[in-house]
Amino acid sequence: MILPGSTIGILGGGQLGRMLAIAAAQLGYRAHVYAPEAEQPAADVAFAATSAGYEDKAALEAFAAQVDVVTCEFENVPAKCLALLAARVPVRPGPRAFAIAQDRLAEKQFVAGLGGKPAQHAAVDDAETLAAALARLGTPAILKTRRFGYDGKGQVRIERPAEAPAALAELGGAALVLEAQVPFASEFSILVARGMDGSEVHYPPIANRHESGILVESVAPAPRVPAAHVEEAVALVIRIADALDYVGVLACEFFATATGPVFNEMAPRVHNSGHWTIEGAETSQFEQHIRAIAGLPLGSPALRVPVVSMRNILGNEVAGAHAFLADPHARLHLYGKREAAPGRKMGHVTFLRA
Ligand code: ATP
Ligand code: MG
Repeated sequence: MILPGSTIGILGGGQLGRMLAIAAAQLGYRAHVYAPEAEQPAADVAFAATSAGYEDKAALEAFAAQVDVVTCEFENVPAKCLALLAARVPVRPGPRAFAIAQDRLAEKQFVAGLGGKPAQHAAVDDAETLAAALARLGTPAILKTRRFGYDGKGQVRIERPAEAPAALAELGGAALVLEAQVPFASEFSILVARGMDGSEVHYPPIANRHESGILVESVAPAPRVPAAHVEEAVALVIRIADALDYVGVLACEFFATATGPVFNEMAPRVHNSGHWTIEGAETSQFEQHIRAIAGLPLGSPALRVPVVSMRNILGNEVAGAHAFLADPHARLHLYGKREAAPGRKMGHVTFLRA
């Protein structure tokens, strides 16, 4: 057990780290944020911050010496970095969850092995394997880099086989996977927290709406996803967490289809679609994650109100975001980022009614 007063190391300095650090502080922990970027929204609210690369051995060793447990808010932390830290200090969740989540093909194979249904897919390395994959899966399809994708980056939609060369050129040289486009009715996510003792809680299903691959809005509980499909998805996420001996919050994204939930991807961390839990659930996903990695009991994931929704504040929207406060039911969160690049997640607003 990592008792309050200890220091929690967080790899990654973004908004997820910021909200984890706030939750850690509430429970009497100190957060030490480690990230390569000079600007770290998490560092603003942390006890300590290190700005160094994930390959910087000396900086990682110094970080390991100053923290009692390490967790990640960023899922593309290199395997070597996690291995170096794990040899010195507990890393929760462990490196295996990252190895799987960092590779879209490995992730699909792993989940299929546990009885999950990912989209029809095929590994693609070049023009030949892409042509064969398109012939088998048909169009429209989505070509994705196996690694380092986020917010819809590293993906190209292919409407007709003739678009294949351009798609390949755009993703240039990386290992790829082609996915059949899933005819989904809606998208939803399931967030499970698993403790050191294997205890598990899950949040109500969350409906997610994406635009250009970026999450714009979440609603909990997800309307329109049949209860049986939610049950099937929750059971799968629990099997994934158990198989990985996972500790912390694990998020999985699903497509809701007529024939049941199709697994999209997993995130071995707290998740944008769970931001509403700060005000909308008895225990937020951030506090839940801190409790789990510290070996404390998990809290209730139950809703505090019948319906909660969350909207992301993207790019320039941040300039007028304070206007949301005209609604007395709105709770505004801004991440303190200086640069409002298009599509960048600058904040979110939670509404304690739909
Ligand atoms: P993030 O990590 O931010 O969730 P990502 O870059 O890993 O994003 P995906 O979840 O793979 O992206 O895709 C982003 C969105 O694009 C999905 O939520 C969905 O709306 C759409 N999409 C991706 N793959 C498919 C698919 N096979 N069929 C239908 N829609 C898809
Ligand atoms: Mg996604």
